[in-house]
Amino acid sequence: MLNLNNMKGFSLWLAGLVWGACSAYAQELHMPRNIKQAFSKGTRAADGRPGRHYWQNRARYDIAIELRPPGRTIEGREHITYFNESPDTLRELPVKLILNVHRPGAARDSDADPAYFSRGIEIDSLAINGVGRPWKEAGAYHTIQDIELSEPLSPGDSLTLFFQWHYEIALRSDREGMIDSTTFFLAYFYPKIAVYDDYTGWDRLEFFDLQEFYSDFNDYTLKVTVPAGYLVWATGVLQNPTAVLGPVYAERLEAAGRSDTVIHIVTAADLAAGQVTAQQRTNTWIWQAAGIPDVAVAVSDHFVWDAASVLADSAGQRRVYVQAAYNDTAAAYRQAVTFGRHAVSWLSDEWPGIPFPYPSMTVFQGYAAMEYPMMANVMVTPALTITRSLMDHEIAHTYFPFYMGVHETRYPFMDEGWAVFFELLMGRSYKPAQEADDLFKGWWVSSWSGNTAAEADLPLITPANMLRNPAYWINAYIKSSVSLLALKDLLGDDLFKKCLQEFIRRWQGKHPVPWDFFNTFSNVAGRNINWFWSNWFYSSCYIDLAIEQVARTPKGFDITVGNTGGLFVPVDLLVHFSDNSTVTIHRTPAVWSAGQQQVVVAVTGKKKIRSVELQPGVFLDADESNNKWAAAL
Ligand SMILES: [Zn+2]
Repeated sequence: MLNLNNMKGFSLWLAGLVWGACSAYAQELHMPRNIKQAFSKGTRAADGRPGRHYWQNRARYDIAIELRPPGRTIEGREHITYFNESPDTLRELPVKLILNVHRPGAARDSDADPAYFSRGIEIDSLAINGVGRPWKEAGAYHTIQDIELSEPLSPGDSLTLFFQWHYEIALRSDREGMIDSTTFFLAYFYPKIAVYDDYTGWDRLEFFDLQEFYSDFNDYTLKVTVPAGYLVWATGVLQNPTAVLGPVYAERLEAAGRSDTVIHIVTAADLAAGQVTAQQRTNTWIWQAAGIPDVAVAVSDHFVWDAASVLADSAGQRRVYVQAAYNDTAAAYRQAVTFGRHAVSWLSDEWPGIPFPYPSMTVFQGYAAMEYPMMANVMVTPALTITRSLMDHEIAHTYFPFYMGVHETRYPFMDEGWAVFFELLMGRSYKPAQEADDLFKGWWVSSWSGNTAAEADLPLITPANMLRNPAYWINAYIKSSVSLLALKDLLGDDLFKKCLQEFIRRWQGKHPVPWDFFNTFSNVAGRNINWFWSNWFYSSCYIDLAIEQVARTPKGFDITVGNTGGLFVPVDLLVHFSDNSTVTIHRTPAVWSAGQQQVVVAVTGKKKIRSVELQPGVFLDADESNNKWAAAL
């Protein structure tokens, strides 16, 4: 291919020379057999849209839990109505009991200590369609248990389940657990029906505490009963603030829904005065949320509470609550609502540029950096800029995996990739771009580019449920986000955003797989970019460009850039001339589109070149020793 340009009087061109060796150059992307079947059944369409026969199951969860901190036992009851929208007759219901990963005998990805262990979720009673039946666990598994149905569930039919259970919250808090003796963070705390989908059937992947989740879009009513004096934050919209809060605090919360500035709903002084909640023995806080994948809950008797709101949809004049719950000693958290407002607004207006889909977002000071619908559990780090980036990241997850119901367990690049990508771009919106890029390179990219082991170069499409670290970390977070940056450079911001927004419009509230992502971007971009997908998602390539040669030509100079690592990244060159002038040359990954191993950048003109250097930017280069060329003196 040939590419002609004019830049500051120099005409530059690039030409492909040799076919790539690292990249399998394929126009057809391999699809697992069950995904192929989904396409042939018409549940997914070749242009990237949900197919004419697309379906997904759903449920209504009516959950009531009671907590009595500092007692660690949490008791729950739930009524589930499960709707079979599939064309299949279901004969069993696998139930996810994620917290059983805390059981001493459960398989898990990393070591555990006594503070982590618990007896997991203990089911006290079960009824199906109102008929009680004994709970029997298969000993071989922990986090997933099958319920055999005595009567099969036909297509279009529904059934009801009733569970009563209890569990002891773990002393150690990661994604969930005890924050302190009277502050708890609850997640995955209820029996939940596994996803039955159009390409795998039942999702029977166990939880090992490394990979993440996969959920239907359900409607939730959540009732949380706590002693007086305890505040509760949870997924959803609080239905009864005046019943559970003291009048002045309910008024402040209401006012925050109209306020751009931070309102201190409950301060340390308020807590000391002891009137923040309704003065009953216990209060039952009620939350509702529709069409969401999960719920999380935080309770405390001494965390303070800030809130404000922000316009997320200027057309609809819809405001989103942004809230923070934290220990008053955490200075970073005093700015959490301000940070959160910026995040919600930026995500709505810039990237992805789709109005924040939820009515509320609460950032809670825990010991994790973990997303839940409408909630984030974010630790305080020694550096404010990192704490804020973690908040940005978890809030950005709203779009992937919650609004877009991706299979995080198997394809986490579909949510972590976007979260890291948004985190970087959001960082550039409020601090110097160099600072945002340095954090991105230092925190993320360097642990991939500097890792020369085989497991650092597994293809992105590798099912992540089969990965451990560092491969999981590299693929889910790093290679994924860098691939999106390369794609953004290839398509240009406008077209890339158009593809992203259309992908979200097509699949929000549904379960896209990687091929729906590939196909939608190709379809909306109006070009076949399988060469890009093939290279970034199916190869073991890495990032390593080299300046191989700078040679005089009758018209000027030819700069030969070799692609040693094989990944299709942008080429950025800084050329110094002997008269001290410089020129920067940028080429998108399109220069590799025919699978070349080298490109030649021709610089025409009379000036002599003194030196040439590659400027990889965030595309950190594995071997920088060959990134510079200097003329012999
Ligand atoms: Zn994440």
